Amino acid sequence: MKLKIRTGFGYDVHQLQEGLDFWLGGIKIPHTHGALGHSDADVLVHVICDALLGAANMRDIGFHFSDKDPQYKGIDSKILLKEVVHLLAREGYEIGNIDSTICLQEPKVNPHIPEMKACLAKVMGIPEHDISIKATTTEHLGFVGKKEGVAAFATVLIIKQ
Ligand SMILES: [Zn+2]
Repeated sequence: MKLKIRTGFGYDVHQLQEGLDFWLGGIKIPHTHGALGHSDADVLVHVICDALLGAANMRDIGFHFSDKDPQYKGIDSKILLKEVVHLLAREGYEIGNIDSTICLQEPKVNPHIPEMKACLAKVMGIPEHDISIKATTTEHLGFVGKKEGVAAFATVLIIKQ
């Protein structure tokens, strides 16, 4: 019997630069630095997009929304996430659950997690209970620890209707 569930995985990194807005998990985090990218550089939204697309074997975020395309310059990544959910729905997939981890030395992400979950649940049209967001520092090691960048990972389960 063919399985009706599929898993997907996403990984992404963005540089941090002083003076930029810091979009993370669909919301703006107060901080001196923000993530650099062609879009709003929301690393958590990007890994969720990649994990969902990967689960459906539909390539990745850069394939669907090229960072060379001026129409995506500075775009709110939530718009891309909404489109990814539509692309999957068209293939008959709905989201089971999402688990994710943000790697960031500072600021503390934990106080913002409830707001991120509420925001992303609304964008994807799924219950907050189906989105897990975790955060960790890297104990001052590597580019995350040296505050040069932010990284994130996500796994998802999707269900074929
Ligand atoms: Zn990205």
